[in-house]
Amino acid sequence: MMLFNRFLGDLVALLFPNLCCGCYTSLYHGEDQLCTRCIYHLPYTDHHLHKENGAARQLWGRLPCHAVMSLLYFKKGARTQNIIHHLKYRDRKDLGIKLGGMIAQKLLMNPAYDDVDLIIPVPLHRRREHQRGYNQSLCVAQGISSTLKIPVNTRCLLRTQATTTQTKKGRYKRFENMKQVFSIVELASLKDKHILLVDDVITTGATLEACGIVLFEAGISKLSIATVAFAK
Ligand SMILES: [Zn+2]
Repeated sequence: MMLFNRFLGDLVALLFPNLCCGCYTSLYHGEDQLCTRCIYHLPYTDHHLHKENGAARQLWGRLPCHAVMSLLYFKKGARTQNIIHHLKYRDRKDLGIKLGGMIAQKLLMNPAYDDVDLIIPVPLHRRREHQRGYNQSLCVAQGISSTLKIPVNTRCLLRTQATTTQTKKGRYKRFENMKQVFSIVELASLKDKHILLVDDVITTGATLEACGIVLFEAGISKLSIATVAFAK
C-alpha cells in the first residue's frame, strides 16, 4: 500500500508540479517548495538547542563531534519522508537549497557553529551522482552556505567506492563496509579547520562516522554535523 501511495505521490507531483513537497497540497502565490502549514508544523527536532540530542547520541563513542543537529524527525509515511524523497529522487535541487537555509537559521541560534570554516557535503560516488544528476547533500550545503556565508568545499572529501544497498546488513558490517569508501585529497585545505559535514538523513550514522574518521585523519580541528532529517 505504501509503495502504491508513493507511486501516486510521484504521479501527482509530475502532473502538478506546483504542490507542496511535504503534503502535496497546492502552493499559494509566494510559497515555494513547502506550504506555510508544513513550514510551521513540520516535526522539528530543536536539536540545535540541546547539545545532548538524539542525533548526537547516535555518534557517541564513535566520533568526537563538536556539535550535531538534524532539522526534522523522519518517520515513514509522514511529511519528512515525502520531503526527503523529493530531495533525493525528484530532482528538487531548489528544495535542498531551501532546507539548507532552514538549517542555517537554526545554526545561527547556537554559538557552537560560530567558527565553522568550511562546509563539506557527504559526497556521492561519481557514478551515482551522474545517474542522479546532482548530489542532494551538496544542494543542502549550498543553502547553508548562502545564509552563513561560509564556503562549501567539494574537492577534499571523495567517495572512491560505490556502496551497495546496506539495509539488510548489521551495524558492524555496515561500518566495516563504509570504512574504505571515503578518501581525502588536498589535506592542506583541511588542516586545523572546523568542518561542518552535511548529509540528508542520519540513520545508523555509519556514513557520517566513516567521513568523520578520514577528516580527523586529515588534521581537522573540530567536526560538526548538520542533516535534514534524523530517523530515530
Ligand atoms: Zn505542505
